[in-house]
Formats: sequence, C-alpha cells, structure tokens
Amino acid sequence: MPSTRLASTRWLFAAIILCTGFPGIRSADATVATDSEMRTAHSWADAPATPPLTFIPLTPYSRDNTEWIAWQFHDPEVNQGTVQAFRRETCDESTATVKLAGLDPDAQYEITPIDGAGTTTHSGRDLLDAGLTVSVPDRPGAAVLTYRRVIAWPGLQESLQTITDQELMDYVAHLADDAMQGRAMNTPGGRAAGDFLAAEFKSLGLRPAAPHDCYVQDCGQGCRNILGLLPGSDPTLVEETVLVCAHYDHVGVRQVRGSDTAVVFNGANDNASGVAAVLELAEALAGLPKPPRRPILFALWDGEERGFVGSRFFIDHPTVALDRITGVVNLDMIGRVVDNQLIIWGTGTAKPWRDIVTASNAGPQLDIDMRPFTLALSDHKPFVDRGIPAILACSGSFPELHRPTDDVELLNPDGMRRSTQLVQGIVCELANRRDRLAFLEAARTDIECDPQRTADDRRPAPRAAPR
Ligand SMILES: [Zn+2]
Repeated sequence: MPSTRLASTRWLFAAIILCTGFPGIRSADATVATDSEMRTAHSWADAPATPPLTFIPLTPYSRDNTEWIAWQFHDPEVNQGTVQAFRRETCDESTATVKLAGLDPDAQYEITPIDGAGTTTHSGRDLLDAGLTVSVPDRPGAAVLTYRRVIAWPGLQESLQTITDQELMDYVAHLADDAMQGRAMNTPGGRAAGDFLAAEFKSLGLRPAAPHDCYVQDCGQGCRNILGLLPGSDPTLVEETVLVCAHYDHVGVRQVRGSDTAVVFNGANDNASGVAAVLELAEALAGLPKPPRRPILFALWDGEERGFVGSRFFIDHPTVALDRITGVVNLDMIGRVVDNQLIIWGTGTAKPWRDIVTASNAGPQLDIDMRPFTLALSDHKPFVDRGIPAILACSGSFPELHRPTDDVELLNPDGMRRSTQLVQGIVCELANRRDRLAFLEAARTDIECDPQRTADDRRPAPRAAPR
C-alpha cells in the first residue's frame, strides 16, 4: 500500500520538530526579523510539496520584539497541525495567549503538548477568538503543541462501545451460513436474508423507509432493497439525509470448475461484513441520547452482484430527497483488514472528506489509504454519477473473493470493528456538521475500475527529458 497523506503529515511535523531542532531558536541569535527569515530558519522552503501545510505567523516579528514569537503549521485538508511558541530571554511572562488561524469555528479540537502531557479539548471558535494559552517555564524556551479536530456529539463515545467484535461476527455468521444459500437476488436464500434484515431494522427501532410504510422496497425482478430511517433531531434539516449502505446479496449456489456438485458461496466478506457493520451502526446511532441533527437512511441493497440493480432502482425511485443527500458512505468488504489498513475511495467527491475521515480515525487508529477517485465496482458509483458525494470503505481485494471459501473464519473481527467505528464517526459528522457536502464536479469523471490502482500509480508520469 502507498504511504498515506495522514502518515506523511505526521512525519513532516515530526521531521520539522525533531530534525531541525528549532533552528534559529536555540541558536545564539534568536531574533527572527521577517516572515521569509522565519521560513528559511525552519527549512520551510525545503519542505515536501505535499502535504500543503500553511505557515501562519501568530505574532508580529520585528527586531524590537523581545517577548514571544509563535507560529502555526496548519494542514487545511485534514484540519490538524502544530503550534510552536518561543519565550525569549528577556521575557518575564511564563505564559502567553496566541490566537490560532485557519480552524473551523464550529469544530472541536484536541490539543496535546508534544511531550504528551495532558490533552485538552477546545472549540474552534474559542481558539480563533480568545486564543490558546501556552506555558513555557524556562527562558529562553519553547512550547510545541499539536492540534487535531475531533468528532463530538453527546453520547458518541459510549455508543462506539456498543459496536463489538462479537455482535459483528454473529451477524456475519448468520448471513454467511449455508442456510442463506449464498443470498443471490431472487432466490429463497436472498429472500430469507432480506426478511431477516427487515426484522432487524424494526427491532433496532428504525422507521420503515420504503413505500407503503414498509422496510422492503420492491425493485422488480425479485430484487428487494431493505430501507430503514433514523429521523434527525433538527427540523430544519429533514431533507438532508445521510445515506449509509451496503449490499446484502451475493452469488448464491454454483458449480465450481471441475466438479459436478453445486456449492454455496457464503460471501462472508462480500458483503455480509458490510451488512453487519450497517446493523451495528444502526444500533449505535439509534441508541444515542439525542439523535443526530440530520436523518440517517440505512440502505441494504439487493442485486449488486447483478449490476447494482437495487441501488440503481433506488436512484430512479428514491424514498428521500435524492439531490439533498448530504453524503453517501458505502461499505463493501470490510472484514479482511490486514496490517490495520483500510482503503477509502472517493475522497475527491467533496472537499471535506479527508478532514472528516481523519477526525473520525482518532479512536479507531486505522492506517487509512485515502484515494480521491471513485472505484466503479460497487453501489456508491450510481450516486457519484448523479453528482452526490460518496465514499467506499473497503479492506481491499482478497484471494477468496467470489469463491466458495469466502467464509466467516477468515474475517478479522478487530479490523472490522475499528472500520465500523470509523464509519460511525463519519456518519455522525455528516449528520451534524453545519453544511452538507458540496459535490466536486471533477469527480464525475475521475473513475477507476482497477481496485489495485493506488493514488500513487495515478500521478501523471514525469515528462521525459528533451533529447
Ligand atoms: Zn461486494
């Protein structure tokens, strides 16, 4: 897997702090006169082109400035950075207040000193308006703090704990049992799976979200979507639905090459894993003391394996205001997390995705490979075609894909739980943020059909040197 933006951001912060050792600060001449001198002193000019950190001087510099100097490195795409403040030899005050810049006033930020002692949480508005108080006991001396945006909502941390390895695996084991006959569309096994899921939505307290007050949307050809809604708590946002979805169908019972007998393709990872996650998310979000502001539609598609039959039907026959959807999170194959890695495709469909995914990863601590383009191989694709911001969470390809050996024993419960908790944060943020996501038109054509293609592979090749 390629290096992630997130990892390289952390690396860069560490490199700035550890490798440069505050050049210019610990040197004898600590006076930094101009912005350009400051940049040079911190090897800013040599910093890699990505990530595009914004350098923000927080105090005016002049040769007369004998008190504090402070500055900030901010990564606007993932909404995190560092604040560095320096107390001069001549300064009598051991604390100073610095107003930060570039933050989201509506967001919450966690601030941690670089030595790791004592994380505190602040609102973005406070950090912008009232500022952050930093303390440096020694003179001359420096304080370094990192900040990152966190997802906050009453009861969110407790609700994350209701997502458990055991419950996820119980759902997968049930759906991927031979009794479900591989859940193919328009088969007894597929219908049994759909009936089970509709009953689960009901018992979790979701409202029926298909026509005629039903959980089942009949799409014709024996295709049945299962739809349940958690109403939002803000009456001004009733149309701005958040959509979290997964396909529940698989390929059924088939003959394998070289054998006369038909075998059940259980589809544990593809996609009982994503369905189990949606059920656990429904339980966790429905259990919040106060529902998130926007409504959340939980959709389990049928007929994905037959060419997105269910999701395409929904787009032609939506049961919510389609063009007001805030964002789509599709889960397809999240059960085979290896080395803690999860791939998120489609972060280029709206600008805030990177920030939202990064902030949601504070607890799960997955190694996330964010790919800006859309992978054309699952149910989020028809939404991107309609100009709706959509991401796909997936643990990647695996040897048993579409083989009868895609069984529950091969799943990684810990990785699945972390991935589900990540999506819980993403969905909560989509439901509560001030503005819904705006689709980036360039994403409409930024489509990839090869799951192996990484963001690095797709960078334009360097131009050949002239002969
Ligand atoms: Zn699938």
